[in-house]
Amino acid sequence: MLPAVRIDYEEEIHRLRREMNAVILAHYYQEDEIQDLADYVGDSLDLARRAARTEADVIVFCGVRFMAEGAKILNPEKLVLVPDMKAGCSLEESCPPEAFRQFKEQYSDHMVVTYINCSAEIKAMSDIIVTSSNAESIIRQIPADRKIIFAPDKYLGAYLVKKTGRDMVLWNGSCIVHERFSEQELVRLKTRHPQACIIAHPECPEQLLRHAVHIGSTSSLIRFSEQHAGGEFIVLTEPGILHEMKKRSPGSIFHDVPGVSGGTCVSCNSCPYMKLNSLEKIYHCMINRAPAITLSDELMKRARLPLEKMLEMSAAKPV
Ligand code: SF4
Repeated sequence: MLPAVRIDYEEEIHRLRREMNAVILAHYYQEDEIQDLADYVGDSLDLARRAARTEADVIVFCGVRFMAEGAKILNPEKLVLVPDMKAGCSLEESCPPEAFRQFKEQYSDHMVVTYINCSAEIKAMSDIIVTSSNAESIIRQIPADRKIIFAPDKYLGAYLVKKTGRDMVLWNGSCIVHERFSEQELVRLKTRHPQACIIAHPECPEQLLRHAVHIGSTSSLIRFSEQHAGGEFIVLTEPGILHEMKKRSPGSIFHDVPGVSGGTCVSCNSCPYMKLNSLEKIYHCMINRAPAITLSDELMKRARLPLEKMLEMSAAKPV
């Protein structure tokens, strides 16, 4: 029997990246080893900006499928690879296109502002896309007399209603990760670590956000912990973010918050979709040049307009 050939995935990915003129983009919620290997690590807005201006021929997107679709929409001529096509998103699934089309018809005089965590079909039905980094700034730029539908995240929507004072109609969607953090565990952690300050992503429900001293996008939470280096933090978002936080502030102490146990999952604070990716799958998608994102030209054309609008409005008011 021939000895099994061991592949050094990291080395092979570096080789393929050079040979293919590929760029590897990774979200902060990816496994540590993927973040360490990527050319750029960021939140949805950072990665959309990187994708929009890359000169690489191939984009390897280590995140979830809707993010890779966004990269394809902004770069229709490029090959956009995903390590695992099953990397979906519960928030995206909570907003099916046909149901949203009917919902939108009920509010035909409203403009549609959509969080980037949605399918290409929903993007195509939107007027402006936002991320958690730029949502507040973009909504403030919309004339006060324009009525707004905000989709798909009801918690981010409710947070933005509170921050901006805009009375928006909210789609009833949510993310399983942020929705399932346990308030009881949060309070328990805070009691055990009274010096720690709670920082939270606005996809969390209001009963969790009210405990936080700082609320913001993943990039904003990382910046906040860096600005308060040496501190202690209880972090209410997907725990993949702690890798970058620890790298930037090695002297700080970070605690992630357990989720509410249920089903087969004891601690549901990790995104099951983000964690589908692995070095092995990255290697295989690069060597096979598949799976790749494919979308119709017509869909990409319609979805590109609100995405470009977001990039334009974010540039107008830096976030
Ligand atoms: S953390 Fe939530 S919103 Fe983000 S990809 Fe996972 S399921 Fe979707």
